[in-house]
Amino acid sequence: MLEKSEIEISCPECKRTFKVMLKQIANEEEVTCLECRKIIHLKDSDGSVRKSLQSVDKELRNLKNSLKNIDLNFRI
Ligand SMILES: [Zn+2]
Repeated sequence: MLEKSEIEISCPECKRTFKVMLKQIANEEEVTCLECRKIIHLKDSDGSVRKSLQSVDKELRNLKNSLKNIDLNFRI
């Protein structure tokens, strides 16, 4: 799933890069830098990550519904 996709961010303090999940950004979670232990508050500033995740979710549901319909039609 897309929400488990990871992107790389860099620590504002020590510039070390590490990976966070898109879901963590959408939830605006706090992560701790493995290098300098600084707490980084992930920010989905305009809500775009959340929106993308939601729209993908919706698409998948629509797809599943379509497949269900195809299945029904097929049986008839
Ligand atoms: Zn750091």
